[in-house]
Amino acid sequence: MNYQTWFERRPELLEEEIHSFIEQDLNFLLDEQVKKDMRGIVFKGTVDVNGEEVELELIYPSEFPSQRIVIKASERNLFRHQNPFEKNLCVIPHDQYGWDSSMTGAFMVKQAIRLLEDIETGVEAVEKNEVESPEPWSNYLRFENVPLFITEHLPDSLGETGTFTIARYFGHYYENKEQVTFQDYHYVLEGIKQLGEQFELPKTLPFQRWNKPFPLENGLWFHLKEPPNFNIYEPKAVVEELGHMYGESNKDVAQLKSQINKYKFAQLPKNKKGRDQLPPHFAFIFDEENYERNQYRKAFIWGVYDFNTKSIKYSKPHYLTKDEHFKRIPELTSLDSKRVLIAGLGSLGSAVALELGKSGVGSLMLMDKDMLDVGNLVRHTGTIDYVGMRKTKLLEEQILSHYPFAHVEKLDYFIGHDVEVMERIYQKVSEVDLVINLTAEESVIRIFNRLSLELDKPVIHGWISNGAWGGRVLRTIPMQTGCYLCESEQDDITVASSPIEEIYPRGCGFPTFAGASFDIYGIATQTVRMAVDTLLERKLDYDHIIVQNYPYPKVEVFPHKRDKDCPLCGVKAE
Ligand SMILES: [Zn+2]
Repeated sequence: MNYQTWFERRPELLEEEIHSFIEQDLNFLLDEQVKKDMRGIVFKGTVDVNGEEVELELIYPSEFPSQRIVIKASERNLFRHQNPFEKNLCVIPHDQYGWDSSMTGAFMVKQAIRLLEDIETGVEAVEKNEVESPEPWSNYLRFENVPLFITEHLPDSLGETGTFTIARYFGHYYENKEQVTFQDYHYVLEGIKQLGEQFELPKTLPFQRWNKPFPLENGLWFHLKEPPNFNIYEPKAVVEELGHMYGESNKDVAQLKSQINKYKFAQLPKNKKGRDQLPPHFAFIFDEENYERNQYRKAFIWGVYDFNTKSIKYSKPHYLTKDEHFKRIPELTSLDSKRVLIAGLGSLGSAVALELGKSGVGSLMLMDKDMLDVGNLVRHTGTIDYVGMRKTKLLEEQILSHYPFAHVEKLDYFIGHDVEVMERIYQKVSEVDLVINLTAEESVIRIFNRLSLELDKPVIHGWISNGAWGGRVLRTIPMQTGCYLCESEQDDITVASSPIEEIYPRGCGFPTFAGASFDIYGIATQTVRMAVDTLLERKLDYDHIIVQNYPYPKVEVFPHKRDKDCPLCGVKAE
């Protein structure tokens, strides 16, 4: 059996579509050629907009009516609600509820007529009938699969032209290629200059810290009053338009034009030192809407001349700032000012540390003395690239790769033995907002329990049972909730545990356990949730979580009350 497209499965639906145009007095005809040759459905026709004829084209998806019809007005150039390149119109809301399967081609045409009439009336009419959503112009662009990172908002006060500095780092596809092109690198905008005034962007990315960039490249930027409404992929159109805007005699425009005319390299040419050199390139800067309607930011669109296709290719800009990071997790914004110490970076600890990093915890102190072993790959966040590296170091890299603004401190300590090390740990605990102990070692749990009470710092302990059949998370807020030594009824609740014996890895006396990574994540999730709730000082009526994966999934929560007879935090201690 072969895949059948919508009108092959339901020919009556196509008849209904044809009829709905006739019923609405719309003169739209089915393109029989496209139907026969491409198994596609396209209707074309013209409509009357305030006495003027406008051609419209409707393109049906294979999975009509579950998915929406595309409607294009190829001859029009609307200032809003139209893709300036593809020419399709935005006539129903963009989210998945904008379209419903009862909508027809005739309905889309009616919507388009209304939009075209509003556009002629003016901005206010358009705003009255539109959904409150932003329209960032550069979303319409066709970008190469090459990232350009921009680590700071661009300055508001920019003149007409100036220069910028771009740093180049190895990308994913560089190795083993004979023809190296500009697409084989990652790029970072490092500085913007105008009339001798220099604006430096912060070096926040992990590869900016650890890798040396290739020689920096300078280019010209052009500040446009509005998003470009010409063919920005066509070099001739670009220099012509820039000539109109800045005058034919403008030396920057003339320079760009001559660079493009002279360039003749299919792959990147080498400089005297044997390094690749970039082709002619430039950037457009203009204001465009950001996350909200009528809220603007400066777009930086970087174009590079490609000799192979004689066209300009654009790299996708990625604006990487704290604001952007917390846009998707607004309720966690204040985590950026928090400090957390995590002891134990095994399968549970690595997952917890990485999740706290993604959540935007500003300062993480990671404590573990181990290195990553191939045996860890089955459960650890560390990948094969990190085998042999200290777990503190690999997690620093992984955390900064998710949240480059974090401050990570690596503490490769063996806890409890050395007095100097213990002095340092004591100091560190006194500096943080929360301690998370995932070592699952009884002696270490007792050490952190005592330090937490002495230094008045909350502590969370996490354990996984054998086979990862379940786990526990226990929190102490000194003198408010019970500590590890406080007895409670929940001490007797046993967490399901696999009867499989512990494993002794080769050449090592310390046993590990059998158990799947996906079962550990349930416990990691609860640990991270409790950590975040504690850091944000959210009121919880529980401090003890028991997670069961086996024989069926279950999460139970309990309070953990202070025990008046506790030797550490009981009434005698007050
Ligand atoms: Zn206690």
